[in-house]
Amino acid sequence: MSDAPVQTQAGLEAQPPMPVRRLHNFLYCPRLFYYQWVENIFQENADTVEGSHAHRNVDRPSRIEDPTKLDLPEGTQIRSLRLASEKLGLVGVVDLIEGGPEGAVLIDYKKGSARRDEAGERVAKEPDAMQLVAQSMLLREHAISVKEAFVYYAADKRRVPVDVSEERTRECLEKLDQAKALAAEGRCPPPLQDDPRCLYCSAYPICLPNESEFWREPKGEPITVKRPPRPEDDDGEILIVQRPGAQIGFRGGQIVVVLKGDTIRALPSMQVRAVYVYGAVQITTQATHAFLEQGVSVSYFSPSGRFLGMLNGLPASGVDTRRGQYRLFDQPTTCLAVAKEMIRAKIHNQRVMLMRNGEPPEKAVSEMMQLRDQTSEAHTMTELLGLEGMAAALYFGNFAGMLKSSDGAGVDFSSRNRRPPRDPVNALLSMGYSVLCKELAGICHSVGLDPFLGVMHQPRYGRPALALDLMEEFRPLIVDSVAVSLINRGEIAKDDFISGSSGVFMNEDGRKAFWEAYGRRMDTEVSHPQFGYSMPYRRMLEVQARQVWRFVRGEASGYVGFTTR
Ligand code: SF4
Repeated sequence: MSDAPVQTQAGLEAQPPMPVRRLHNFLYCPRLFYYQWVENIFQENADTVEGSHAHRNVDRPSRIEDPTKLDLPEGTQIRSLRLASEKLGLVGVVDLIEGGPEGAVLIDYKKGSARRDEAGERVAKEPDAMQLVAQSMLLREHAISVKEAFVYYAADKRRVPVDVSEERTRECLEKLDQAKALAAEGRCPPPLQDDPRCLYCSAYPICLPNESEFWREPKGEPITVKRPPRPEDDDGEILIVQRPGAQIGFRGGQIVVVLKGDTIRALPSMQVRAVYVYGAVQITTQATHAFLEQGVSVSYFSPSGRFLGMLNGLPASGVDTRRGQYRLFDQPTTCLAVAKEMIRAKIHNQRVMLMRNGEPPEKAVSEMMQLRDQTSEAHTMTELLGLEGMAAALYFGNFAGMLKSSDGAGVDFSSRNRRPPRDPVNALLSMGYSVLCKELAGICHSVGLDPFLGVMHQPRYGRPALALDLMEEFRPLIVDSVAVSLINRGEIAKDDFISGSSGVFMNEDGRKAFWEAYGRRMDTEVSHPQFGYSMPYRRMLEVQARQVWRFVRGEASGYVGFTTR
């Protein structure tokens, strides 16, 4: 269970006892502390994983019936001792206590190396040292006097002494009060600026310190961000299962797909990034638990590819973000301002798509540019959607010009149609939009946004309006591009579709081809127009959702759409 307080709000009086490691976070960076303690957002990175590894020998707790009656004769060792103090409002796990002739010796294990002082001597880093001071306070509360304290740095393979004097105790109490005051304030502190601590911070992909600064007040000029907000576990696979009767299970750390008693697929569960199932596919409870624990979403589609819904764990953060979202997205002027950017970016990207893949008439290209530029002048949502509609007519009116091998593949395109799609190209587009919308709904959910309340698409039962809004600028770049490339490369043809009275849909081979092309596209690296770095489309979707997240939390002054050259 989480050790975080229930979404701290301004005015919260009774905070639960704070874990000592959260005090460590506070001293490292108050914003990190806020994410971890108040919002319960935790992202592993190589450093946190290594940190757990450094603790592996001390994480086997000694059996202690009653810590208040702790006896520590010389030579005794007690590992992973959990202590709590209501008076201090603090809880913590002491890695190792050794009984010494004049009192206890306290040791905390850390990965990495000690800091060097001006004389070149190894000294403990301040958050590490203060963590030991807090632990010694807890021990004193249990009538154990601490004679000496050390941080053991795994990379240095040595103990570094820490001062746990009365003076340091007073400092620690002050810091604890400051941390609690910040938690009660209910306001996330601003990011550090150009600070090396950010390079090692596990919250970097969520915090986006440089991007946040840009979004706070976009000045139009791009900035250079050296470290893309890309988690280290960016690899991983989307498991797609569409064979009727297949069962997805969990065995010995592996996800296994079984059909008629035969294992047709097995892969380590940590390697699965998302699961898509079509039609009559079963998932065992064990596999479901594994997916929920690892934050893997499971999306359900009908046999014909209609998106039905998804299984997701609880979002990391919620109340503050959602409150901000409901408040802001209830204001028509705010919604219009964000929607203008989304539609501007969409028209821009449609125009780029036409120019990249064909030779559209000059007139259409220039009219689309005008429509794109007019979006900033729209006074109402109706006016804006009118511009979008005109641009869409020009775009889809010239869409066929992008299909170079339509004759060979036996598919062609005359106009956009849907519900149901009436030809293979429209079937491809409908399927792609449905999948992308699902992907964005999952991202909104995981960052703590309500996918069902957007700025442009109206809320309706079962309609992820915000996901649909965010999808606008990515439709041409991801889905239309997948459709065009599948047809132009000859990777899909007419016989990969089923035609009937209820429309045209892809068959199993068609879906397989689609998923391969879609996966390739999502993994394609693309340059960010404002920050200079390249990242896969999959990550760019998240960056845009994080921008909305910032905006509804009052940390960004607006929204800037994603465009490509
Ligand atoms: S990335 Fe930097 S500013 Fe953000 S939480 Fe981490 S240390 Fe703090």
